[in-house]
Amino acid sequence: MQRRLILGIFLASLALNVIAVTMSFTLGSAIGLIAGWYLADLASGVIHMLLDYRPCPPGKRLADLYFYTGSRESEEYLAMVRERMASVGAFDRLVYDFKNHHPRPMALGRRTVWRLIGSSVIVAALPLSVALNVAAWLWPVPGWVLATGLTLIVGGAFAQYFHGSLHRDDNPAPIVWMRRLGLLMTPAAHQLHHDTLQRDFATNCGWSNPLINRVFVALRSRGYLDDAGLEPRS
Ligand SMILES: [Zn+2]
Ligand SMILES: [Zn+2]
Repeated sequence: MQRRLILGIFLASLALNVIAVTMSFTLGSAIGLIAGWYLADLASGVIHMLLDYRPCPPGKRLADLYFYTGSRESEEYLAMVRERMASVGAFDRLVYDFKNHHPRPMALGRRTVWRLIGSSVIVAALPLSVALNVAAWLWPVPGWVLATGLTLIVGGAFAQYFHGSLHRDDNPAPIVWMRRLGLLMTPAAHQLHHDTLQRDFATNCGWSNPLINRVFVALRSRGYLDDAGLEPRS
């Protein structure tokens, strides 16, 4: 119920922003739509890179989950997940999820929409969308700013849903169309990330991957992003 209410308010807020963008549309707005989509892709990549390499909290026995060899549908495993996940905060659950998705990518594709977008909507997308509504109502905000904000918010909110769609065989038609238009990346392009975990961290359209790959190389050459962070250790 609470989730539906939050999603309802978010979609209503987005609809108001779509109206504001349409009413103030200029050539700059078209560029803004593309810039916002690029920035959302960049955010998806930077966050993915940092969380992949951020160590899990020690002593929380998350390694037992990560390296569990029995059935992941067994009552024993599910009870362990409930217990261990309850012992860490939401941020560390997210950090664990990023690592866990490397050896078991299809698990991400099976997550519910709310599990994939809920935290992004609550923490960032909904507050930003409402702030854009208020700004557009109070001030003559330039069309290109509204357009950039709109696609940045949409791309940011749905980033993990788009990532999950890369690890799922059946996707809704809009995902397929957006891939054909180049607005979303393909599973083959994302596989480059899974092959090495050292490149192509962006998971929306992938336009920002050339930039992020350079940032990754620069950080690694300075001793950051150590491989030790890629898996839980204890
Ligand atoms: Zn990764
Ligand atoms: Zn992936």
